[in-house]
Amino acid sequence: MNMLDLIYKKRDGGKLSKEEIEFFVEGYTNGTIQDYQASAFLMAIYFNRLDVEETYQLTTAMKCSGEVIDLSGIKGVKVDKHSTGGVGDKTTFIVAPLAAACGVPIAKMSGRGLGFTGGTVDKMESIPGFKTTLEKSEFIEQVNHIGIAVIGQTAHIAPADKKIYALRDATATVENVSLITSSIMSKKLASGSDAIVLDVKCGNGAFMESLEAASELGEWMVDIGNADGKKTIAVITDMDQPLGKAVGNSLEVIEAIETLKGCGPEDITELSLTLAGIMVFAGQKAGSMEEGRKMAEESLSSGKALEKLAAFIEEQGGNPKVISDYSLLPQASYRIQVTSDTYGYVSGIEAKAAGFASQHSGAGRVTKEDEIDMAAGIVLHKKVGDPVAVGEALGTVYGNDLSKVERGAIELAKAFRFSLEVPGKPDLIKKIIT
Ligand code: URA
Repeated sequence: MNMLDLIYKKRDGGKLSKEEIEFFVEGYTNGTIQDYQASAFLMAIYFNRLDVEETYQLTTAMKCSGEVIDLSGIKGVKVDKHSTGGVGDKTTFIVAPLAAACGVPIAKMSGRGLGFTGGTVDKMESIPGFKTTLEKSEFIEQVNHIGIAVIGQTAHIAPADKKIYALRDATATVENVSLITSSIMSKKLASGSDAIVLDVKCGNGAFMESLEAASELGEWMVDIGNADGKKTIAVITDMDQPLGKAVGNSLEVIEAIETLKGCGPEDITELSLTLAGIMVFAGQKAGSMEEGRKMAEESLSSGKALEKLAAFIEEQGGNPKVISDYSLLPQASYRIQVTSDTYGYVSGIEAKAAGFASQHSGAGRVTKEDEIDMAAGIVLHKKVGDPVAVGEALGTVYGNDLSKVERGAIELAKAFRFSLEVPGKPDLIKKIIT
């Protein structure tokens, strides 16, 4: 077998066999296939796509390129949750304690971020003392003890995806349904949970802008997960404006805690309860998603989910007092308010532009080597549909480097759109794919 034949085959619309896909994944991971041929191959896939069967083979080959975690030492049906990525998405912090408080064991591996904010791991590290690495035995023991553990994904999980993703990022081949499906699902299937709940973002701040494209991605991921024997459910959710009001690491941690206290923004509360309810159902603690949702609501209103968050923070070395004293989290020396120079209603907050504002304030990495300012980011004071007067605050930008905060404020102002009529609110939950 040689790589040139595989490039010809995909370029001309042919179907790749399991052996050919394995040849590519193994060869590119161990360095016998060079970047230039892998790039051409990815571009051929980008244009001619893989069908579901080829995507399954690619997912499996990438999953098996590294360690496949065995979580059989944890009692119960382990449920993982994954978001395809959005601006202000701090749901892991909320849904993991909500579902764990309903008895679902949460043994989750999360990633770091390169983009608008850090990933979940970076956000967790904004809590003083919080450890995001645990030995496997400690990880399993913690889940059996308190029902929840979240750690950083190790380099041993799907190393082929790490290498291929970096090449896709540099060759404009990220936004392809087969490649996104195999990238996400290879890591999820290697991480050892029994069931997977996927939050597929749809809108201008997501990989998939249209409902049609996001639904296709959700359906493919559900098919591949189920084909691998894991119960997989996808929820298509709105990403036309940032989720919640905070974007930035410690700012998002505060918003997550507020949500678990019952005082969070409406959209993040609604999405978290929906996802947690589905996780409770997938974890076989409820007979239906509706029953799961009711259990999640009860764990929120009774304060049990907040207690679970405190136990989780403490068990992983963090200071649980952050829950009642936000001054223990990293603080910003500078803050600039962005005000409105018009009146009417907010008709849009472009998620990508708000994400750029947060990134420029210091909350996100532009290159892998960048240090994140844990206190930086934005807090929105207005969301789509809110009335606005001239001079009213639209949002505040935070950070420890004044020039970055100023740049963030310029970017944030560009994110807002206004209208004189009351605009329609976007549907937050667009579709559930089982
Ligand atoms: N997230 C991933 O892990 N991979 C993709 O291809 C896109 C989003």
